[in-house]
Amino acid sequence: MYEGPVQDLIDELGRLPGVGPKSAQRIAFHLLAAEAADIARLQDALQKVKEGVVFCDICGNVSEQETCRICRDARRDPQKVCVVEEPKDVLAIERTREFKGRYHVLGGALDPLSGIGPDQLRIRQLLTRIGEQDVTEVILATDPNTEGEATATYLIRLLRDFPGLTVTRLASGLPMGGDLEFADELTLTRALSGRRAV
Ligand SMILES: [Zn+2]
Repeated sequence: MYEGPVQDLIDELGRLPGVGPKSAQRIAFHLLAAEAADIARLQDALQKVKEGVVFCDICGNVSEQETCRICRDARRDPQKVCVVEEPKDVLAIERTREFKGRYHVLGGALDPLSGIGPDQLRIRQLLTRIGEQDVTEVILATDPNTEGEATATYLIRLLRDFPGLTVTRLASGLPMGGDLEFADELTLTRALSGRRAV
């Protein structure tokens, strides 16, 4: 244990995902030794991320405006909607340059043990969106793990009620138990182009 502010900083850093106690300590001491200007830039970035970034009204992706860049882009096919868990999954799929439709970010996956049910995710917004717009295909691109599969299965059941809607799922080949964002581009491109109706 260190004194006061140093320990507070280590504690705060240690709460970040993927930062263990050792890393938290290393980052804290790095920051202690950093130039004032570097700290000011970091502070500024942290502040702006809370003040300036919102979630897109339509798809739930992180955005600087009410509607995100992808939803505003008239060249993107509004009839194809790719459903993902997190904004970082949008980035992963965008990197493949394979998909020219729009997205819908759920904000997580069903996980009853952690208290995450359908109401905690942006599922209702997805159904409204499909009902109001002329969506012809929904691509389920939830993570290839237990929660992601459960979420896809749940959505498949709900989406059956929409006549004329094709629901597809990414082709297998993605490493099971993983996170979409960790799949390499080639694997993800193949999974996307080989998607099958469910
Ligand atoms: Zn959007």
